Amino acid sequence: MEKIAILIETRQGEIKPSLYGVITAAQDAEHELLALAFGADTARFADQLKPYGIHHLVTITAPSARSFSNPDNRARAIIRAMDHFDIRTLFALTSLAGKDLLPRIAARLDAPLVMDCLAVNLVDSTVEKPQFSEKTIATIRVTGHHRIFGIRPNMIEPKTMPVETETVVFNYQGTADDRLEVVETRQGKSGAIDLSEAEIIISGGRGMKNGENFQILQECAQVMGAAVGASRVAVDNGWVPHSMQVGQTGTTVCPKLYIACGISGSIQHFAGMKTAGTIVCINTDPDAAMMQQCDYGIAGDLFKIIPALTRQLKAHR
Ligand SMILES: Cc1cc2nc3c(=O)[nH]c(=O)nc-3n(C[C@H](O)[C@H](O)[C@H](O)COP(=O)(O)OP(=O)(O)OC[C@H]3O[C@@H](n4cnc5c(N)ncnc54)[C@H](O)[C@@H]3O)c2cc1C
Repeated sequence: MEKIAILIETRQGEIKPSLYGVITAAQDAEHELLALAFGADTARFADQLKPYGIHHLVTITAPSARSFSNPDNRARAIIRAMDHFDIRTLFALTSLAGKDLLPRIAARLDAPLVMDCLAVNLVDSTVEKPQFSEKTIATIRVTGHHRIFGIRPNMIEPKTMPVETETVVFNYQGTADDRLEVVETRQGKSGAIDLSEAEIIISGGRGMKNGENFQILQECAQVMGAAVGASRVAVDNGWVPHSMQVGQTGTTVCPKLYIACGISGSIQHFAGMKTAGTIVCINTDPDAAMMQQCDYGIAGDLFKIIPALTRQLKAHR
């Protein structure tokens, strides 16, 4: 039975919800699934992983937990664990952490790496990946001793496949590289949830008129548990930082719900959010391109609609 590993990512000490879709991408009755998680305290995840077909939860520990703040040490520890458990295939999220970690692992293993996969077929070793700003979907076959896949967050609907999960401790004894240490992580303005992984996003464009007005989106986002995004115009005008930009030259997102406020729907913006589950557009112009491409269009002034929406959401909480 081939062993396949999924790298567990956490947010505020809990498994990221988008990770269950990654596990689903790796599910297959023919394979043994292992979850790799950092820190002894992650042993408590076993009960959460059991319904999704994880046979073994491997908690990776080190003599000094501090050494894992260095992504290069994390990469080395994962490679050692893969070697120890005879794992040749690794799945992870195409998240900020995944983008940092997976290329390091692939480079050290000289393994093929495909990021931002929409689907994986383990039998014929192919993946589907968007190219040219989502205009085409390429089917790529990977060959080699190892294979590493980064899955687009929220792309794959989680499915259960209950098994018994055994917890194993893997103590990483390798030499720690102390040339680099992450000393501080600051929250971006898009909110506590990373834009690329958010399940709900509310974005503002030129229609927001200035940076201060984004506060009404922040308030609405807080009630909905959403992240706040923006069009390039809002970024180029200096209203919000580039980390909030959605689109071809910004972040590609795949939320379950995307609310576009005062955004016309240029092809470059659409390229970054077209795989969203449900698209809602709030625009004064009923003929705006986004109104034609959305699931629900609200023709009206966002400065009236957003505060009303926030009030209603608060009332229903
Ligand atoms: C190479 C390249 C890369 C690019 N990359 C990106 C990218 O990654 N992301 C991106 O977003 N853009 C990108 N762009 C820019 C893109 O072409 C558009 O210029 C941009 O997306 C338009 O932003 P917008 O929709 O906010 O502004 P506009 O097109 O000006 O639209 C503003 C909308 O707000 C509406 N509106 C105004 N007032 C209100 C109100 N009170 N209530 C409700 N609606 C209102 C208007 O009716 C209008 O539809 C790129 C362009 C190029 C050339």
